Amino acid sequence: IKYITDQGGKAILFSHLGRIKTEEDKEKLSLRPVAEHLADLLNKKVTFVPATRGEQLEKAIAEMEDGDVLVVENTRFEDLDGKKESGNDPELGKYWASLGDVFVNDAFGTAHRSHASNVGIASNMKQAAAGFLLEKEIKFLGEAVDNPVHPFVAILGGAKVSDKIGVIEHLLDKADKIIVGGGMTYTFYAAKGIKIGNSLVEEDKIELAKELLEKAGDKIVLPVDNVCAPEFNNDAPAKVFEGDIPDGYMALDIGPKSVELFKSVLKDAKTVVWNGPMGVFEMDAFAQGTKDVAQAVADSGATSIVGGGDSISALKKTGLSDKITHISTGGGATLEFLEGKVLPGIAALADK
Ligand code: AMP
Repeated sequence: IKYITDQGGKAILFSHLGRIKTEEDKEKLSLRPVAEHLADLLNKKVTFVPATRGEQLEKAIAEMEDGDVLVVENTRFEDLDGKKESGNDPELGKYWASLGDVFVNDAFGTAHRSHASNVGIASNMKQAAAGFLLEKEIKFLGEAVDNPVHPFVAILGGAKVSDKIGVIEHLLDKADKIIVGGGMTYTFYAAKGIKIGNSLVEEDKIELAKELLEKAGDKIVLPVDNVCAPEFNNDAPAKVFEGDIPDGYMALDIGPKSVELFKSVLKDAKTVVWNGPMGVFEMDAFAQGTKDVAQAVADSGATSIVGGGDSISALKKTGLSDKITHISTGGGATLEFLEGKVLPGIAALADK
C-alpha cells in the first residue's frame, strides 16, 4: 500500500473478512474497523466506502487524489445474493476491474480459490501483478518444492491424513524425510499393525497409508512414543507409551523419544517445511511435542517455512516466530502449493 501511494498511485483496497451467510453477518463483518485501523497504521486518512458497488463507491473513487487510500466494503457481502464473490460471477469481476487501471493481488491465503476479487479482476485487467507478499510466498514455497537445498525435511501434523495425502504424495519424490506427527500418525500406525487404542484413526485411509509407507521406504518417520490419556481432557492422567497404545488410551501428543528422533532428523536439514501440530497443542498437557518441534525447527539453522494456523500459533506461544525464515500466510493455499497444484489466483496473473 505504501509503495503504491509513495509512487503517487491511488490505492483502492479490496479484502474479505469471514463468511457472509446472513444479514446479521454483515453487521459483524464490516471492513470499517479494518479501514480505521489501517488509517492508524499508515498514519494517514483512509476513506471507507460501505458498499461493494454502485454510485457511492464510484463517486468516492472519482474524488480520490494521488496518494489516497480507499477501502471497499467486505467483498463477501456479494455472497449473500448468489455467491457472486466466491463463485467468481463474471459480471462482478469485470465491474471491479473497471474501477482501476492496474491490479495488484497480494492475497496468498485465497490464491487457491477462484473468486471475483482475485481471478475475476485479474482476468479483466490489462495489467496485473503479484504484490510483495504474494511474491515472497511464491519464492519461498516455490523454491522449497521445486529446488530445495538438501537435506529437505517436511514435517506434517494435524488431525487428518486425508487433508495431507496430496502433500505427502507430492513431497515423497522431493523430500529426503517426511516426519509425520499429530492425529494422522495413528492411521499410519494402524497401517503398520501397531495398536492404537482409542486414538484418532481414519479407517478408510488405512490402505492408502499402507501404500504410502511402501512407496516411501524409510522416508516417512513416525513417532516412536506417545503421550496418551484415557480421555480427551487436559486433566486426564496421561502416560507415555512406546509403540503399542493400550486399549482405553488415546494418543494426544508425541513423546520425548519421538522428539529426540525428530531432532536428529532435523539436525542436518537445510530446508524444512512444517505444517500442522504434533498433538492436541490447545491443551497444555499435550502441547509439549509441538513446542519441542517448533524449537527443533528454529534450532536447525535450515531455511524454514511454516504454514497453517496451528503451527504458527505454536511458534508464537514459544516466542520463536522470528527464528523462522518464512511464515506462510496461507492455510489451504500453502497446502495446495505444496501439493504442486496450480493456484488459480496466481495463474490468473501469469500472463499479465
Ligand atoms: P489440522 O486442522 O488437520 O491441521 O489439525 C489440527 C488439529 O489437530 C488441532 O486442533 C489438534 O488439536 C488436532 N490434533 C493433533 N493431534 C491430535 C491427536 N493426537 N488426537 C486428536 N487430535 C489431534
